[in-house]
Amino acid sequence: MMKKIWLICIAIFIATITIVTQSEQVNADKQPHYVITTDASFPPFDFQDQNNQYVGIDLDILKEIAKREGFTYTLKAMSFNSATQLVAGSQADGVIAGMSITDERKEVFDFSTPYYKTGVVWATKKGSNIKSLSELKGQTVALKTGTAGADYAKKIQSQYGFKVKYFNDSNIMYNDVVSGNSVATFEDAPVIQYAIKNGLKLKIMNADKLFDAGWSGFAVKKGENKALLTAFNQGLKSIQKDGTYDKIVKSYLGKSQEHFTGKTSDNNSVLGLLKTNRKAFIDGLIETIKLTVLAIILASIWGIFLGILGISETKWLRGVSTTVIYIFRGLPLMVLAFFIYIGLPTVIGTKVPAFLAGIITLVLNEGAYTAAFVRGGFEAVEKGQMEAARSLGLPYGKAMRKVIVPQGLRIMVPSFINQFIITLKDTSILSAIGLLELTQTGTLIVARNSQGFRVWAIIAVMYLIVITLLTWLSNWVEKRMKN
Ligand code: GLN
Repeated sequence: MMKKIWLICIAIFIATITIVTQSEQVNADKQPHYVITTDASFPPFDFQDQNNQYVGIDLDILKEIAKREGFTYTLKAMSFNSATQLVAGSQADGVIAGMSITDERKEVFDFSTPYYKTGVVWATKKGSNIKSLSELKGQTVALKTGTAGADYAKKIQSQYGFKVKYFNDSNIMYNDVVSGNSVATFEDAPVIQYAIKNGLKLKIMNADKLFDAGWSGFAVKKGENKALLTAFNQGLKSIQKDGTYDKIVKSYLGKSQEHFTGKTSDNNSVLGLLKTNRKAFIDGLIETIKLTVLAIILASIWGIFLGILGISETKWLRGVSTTVIYIFRGLPLMVLAFFIYIGLPTVIGTKVPAFLAGIITLVLNEGAYTAAFVRGGFEAVEKGQMEAARSLGLPYGKAMRKVIVPQGLRIMVPSFINQFIITLKDTSILSAIGLLELTQTGTLIVARNSQGFRVWAIIAVMYLIVITLLTWLSNWVEKRMKN
């Protein structure tokens, strides 16, 4: 029985590695291929349309330029802050995300020719009685991490005496104002106008006098990817010359660049949302399940191994186990994910694919928890069992395998089930590194249609369904183990 389980585990492990490496295989095409990051919750510049295609002013421009200049690319959607950090850390080749060209950023990035003039506005909740910036004194203002809007607010913060709070996603930031937790926000004008058009209950306070935020540009890491930057600039020139650029901008913003007039409305009933976003929900669900299943299997193997080390007769092996458990149980999952995905590649010099980084993160973290209860479970097997086995002449290894492990595993079953459920929920944190699992799927849909309540309710129900199935499966396995 144990042998069979090990064989199955090894087979799954090999299958995993194959899937991961295959899905990251580089385009065999002759054309140069780039990885380009974007902030896909930034309509009308970067977002997913109802067919879950990446669209928007930026992404349509990029698509057209790539076609004309003969390169291909993979788009990676994540928060603006992570999107820029990935390029700064050489994990991706370029970033297009309504990114303002600032002197500070020029220290780290090389920018394309500016392609869109933007401005920052401040907005309050519709019906709020705040009329001027000076009334923000002592109040909290919601900002988006690492953006020009946030920089502007920070610049005037001491003058007006407000407090600030940071978000990674424009939509969550807006809703903090709508719900009354913060009283105002700062954001690029076309983006907040788009959301208001979609029914967001905010009011722009300086519509006729935007704060200057300069121009947006496409960026690569300073000194790197010169060919890509040149191609972008050439392509941009060409689409500006023949009117394609204007056509794209107009299709999203209508005649005046300051007001969004494009069509935005989805069918926003729950059924309508399910129907229009069916593919996105299913894809997100599959990604979540893939991450969960792989992480559960690998973390269990790793955790059992580490747990067994923890009860070894050799002192230093126990020390290794304790230290590894201590480190990875102590680190917040998101810190670990950022460290592996964004931090590590700058040191080791190779890219770590997001999916792999996500799996490693989960295995290290969940594996440490597993190891802790595995160690505890074995320790809970009555001491006399080992003594009896040894006195019957069984060597330590065999006594462990035949006597202690089977009994210990039975004690641990409820802890395993618990850990499986936690693993499933923890996959949502990996949305931070751009994995398009259920949570990130929800973020992208809400970014487009501002239907936070309904979309998050749908996502919540989907998680509950999977958790229920997982619990049933675990209970079934538990029953079989008892027999
Ligand atoms: N234009 C802003 C900036 O560059 C915001 C970009 C974004 O949030 N995607 O900082």
